[in-house]
Amino acid sequence: MIQKEASYYISLRQDYVECKLCPHNCYLMPSRLGLCGVRSNRDGKLYLINYGKISHIEKKSLMELPLSPEFKGKDALFIGSIGCNLKCPFCLHWQASQVGVPTRGMMPDAVVEKALAEECGWIAFTYNEPTIGLEFVLDVARLCKEKKLSVAVHTNGFLNPTPFAELVKNIDILLVDIKSWNSEFYQVECGGSKEIILKNIASAYKNIHLEISYLVIEGVNDQEEGMSELGEWIAGLSPEVPLHLIKFQPSFRYANHKETSPVCLYQLQRVVHHYLKNVFVAGV
Ligand code: SF4
Repeated sequence: MIQKEASYYISLRQDYVECKLCPHNCYLMPSRLGLCGVRSNRDGKLYLINYGKISHIEKKSLMELPLSPEFKGKDALFIGSIGCNLKCPFCLHWQASQVGVPTRGMMPDAVVEKALAEECGWIAFTYNEPTIGLEFVLDVARLCKEKKLSVAVHTNGFLNPTPFAELVKNIDILLVDIKSWNSEFYQVECGGSKEIILKNIASAYKNIHLEISYLVIEGVNDQEEGMSELGEWIAGLSPEVPLHLIKFQPSFRYANHKETSPVCLYQLQRVVHHYLKNVFVAGV
């Protein structure tokens, strides 16, 4: 398996390194892994240890991401790896993102060849957090350009500005999850920052096809006031930006939490429709 030297890090004294890919900016002594579990300090160099490690790969409708109806009828090769830089206790793909699942090795050229062989016009990065393996995503995306394939990335948006801009420049669809409108919830429950993620979204929306998804967990992040503010904020970018309200199913540390009711989802759809033209309910 390839141990690819990472981009976006700085070397420090005594073989320490500082990863500059995401806002955690992990400061790592030799032999230590970053919080995402996939970037490792080996003798003073930072390596990406999930490069070419594929946990999921299958052909599906691109609309399963979810995306707006303009993408109906398009097939994509969905791929995932392992690891995440957030720790959301309600993650729907927690096995791949938080715990680790079996993987197989596949280099970017093999991924692109498989997409072509299966007559997919798209490659969709999802399941775990793709951006913590940004070097792999970019290598695949560059090959896709040569072969006239398009790339969609489903991300938590928690990256530093320079790598985030590099991602946006090289892909075709950016689907960003917003976990909550409550900043404290973001920090305590997910280990992220709403403000940083919103800043990234705002920096990107003019340069790429942007859609936003929101996993609605009843009694946790479904407050109408917050959803109103979210709708208003997105409308400040453009009322055309699609927002997907996703039904929560019990998962991971929220395994005993009830699934979100259609009544709750459709009520929130009405709330954000005051601001946005394209609000979709998914998973019901
Ligand atoms: S990408 Fe991983 S190693 Fe780098 S700063 Fe973020 S959590 Fe730390």
